[in-house]
Amino acid sequence: MRSPYTLDNPPPDEPPSEVLVPSLWRVQARWWKRHTPALDQRSARHPVCGHCSQSWPCHSWACWDGQLGQAVGGPTAPRSLPEPGPATPVRPIGAVVAAAKS
Ligand SMILES: [Zn+2]
Repeated sequence: MRSPYTLDNPPPDEPPSEVLVPSLWRVQARWWKRHTPALDQRSARHPVCGHCSQSWPCHSWACWDGQLGQAVGGPTAPRSLPEPGPATPVRPIGAVVAAAKS
């Protein structure tokens, strides 16, 4: 799972509240940041990782990014099965239309 984080919006050093294992988060976030392109590489057409010098996104970054994505992957606990029903309450369509008009 891709994390919601990007070079312009990197993961925070302190874990978000939904993270189950904060100590693990700090390690993952540190490595995520290490496996990013150097500043002068970020606007390059083919940036390379500042840590392992592979073309970026490098394999390691992708692994850490996936772990961060799982850590913030929503309110469901790990290993729980996805519910088939709607995850969010459905708002009445009329309320949405009224909000859009105001
Ligand atoms: Zn790398």
